[in-house]
Amino acid sequence: MEASEGKSKKQGASRLCCLCNQRRPVLKRPKTLQQICKECFYEVFEEEIHQVIVKNGLFKSGERVAIGASGGKDSTVLAYVLSELNRRHSYGLDLFLLSIDEGITGYRDDSLETVKRNELQYGLPLQILSYKDLYGWTMDDIVKMIGLKNNCTFCGVFRRQALDRGAALLKVDKLVTGHNADDIAETVLLNILRGDIARLSRCTSITTGEDGPIPRCKPFKYTYEKEIVIYPFITESFSCSFSNIYIHTYAYFKKLDYFSTECIYSPNAYRGFAREFIKDLERLRPRAILDIIKSGEDFRIATTTKMPEQGTCERCGYISSQKWCKACVLLDGLNRGLPKMGIGRARGGVNGDHQKETKKPASAARSLESKQCGSLDF
Ligand code: SF4
Repeated sequence: MEASEGKSKKQGASRLCCLCNQRRPVLKRPKTLQQICKECFYEVFEEEIHQVIVKNGLFKSGERVAIGASGGKDSTVLAYVLSELNRRHSYGLDLFLLSIDEGITGYRDDSLETVKRNELQYGLPLQILSYKDLYGWTMDDIVKMIGLKNNCTFCGVFRRQALDRGAALLKVDKLVTGHNADDIAETVLLNILRGDIARLSRCTSITTGEDGPIPRCKPFKYTYEKEIVIYPFITESFSCSFSNIYIHTYAYFKKLDYFSTECIYSPNAYRGFAREFIKDLERLRPRAILDIIKSGEDFRIATTTKMPEQGTCERCGYISSQKWCKACVLLDGLNRGLPKMGIGRARGGVNGDHQKETKKPASAARSLESKQCGSLDF
């Protein structure tokens, strides 16, 4: 028994990175399950993102590009990797950080401190826009009025427009966000569950909003969340068994500085269940995430299906398929003390919504709670 254990340890210790075949592996790559060394992991991680950028023609030389920066892991790694690739491959991009301050005490104020440090660490100019300045309301104020139901609907709608306004202020050509493969797979699933074919048809596009004010790109479209998490942290000590490499203690190798606390107003509802479901599938079959994205990509809407027509909001001029854009409807409801006015798919009102606050069945409320951080709109 002891002899065989000794033999196992020896076999594990002598195993080499399956890419370079020279160094000892320090992790099992979540996407491919290959056992690889730190250097090869960084190389494949960055090279895959570079290939996605090149193959999809995401940028043109000389473009000004804003990185939507929240201080979280995805946008921090995106800011770091994009700066590196821009230098290494001479993309010729002018990069900026763009942050939105939703006014969430104890969450966004702290995460913005991280973005301010990133501004200095990466030498990227930072622009911050607040809900308070744009809309006259902070999320703290909104939650005080509406409670913890539907708060993410307000937050997601306001953020989307705030990012576009920030991008216009910076006069950028593109806005990039840190949405990763897991986020996109979850969104495909949620749009199927909600029967939202309009969003389903566009949520896997790597670039969206080309007909709107500023196109948005997702360079992490095929990047697994687990790899983003381990990118800044790679173990310095490890042990091997026959089939697994365990990561014991993490060291700051890339020394990326990011904020990892959850929003205090996160309802963790429907999207949370979808997230867990995807994680379970990934555990059984890592390719599941890419396959769900592929299903979304291959989805086609019959030409006979009537789709909403894109126009502009009569109030603020922002893109909208209704008379008023969603942000104006929600804001009007808040300012009139009728915050539920713009929520749901009820008929009547400016865009067919109820003017009076009405009691909705529990199922209707649940479908709105599902819009968690970032909203379903990519
Ligand atoms: Fe806004 Fe996200 Fe917090 Fe919801 S979870 S309130 S969308 S920051």
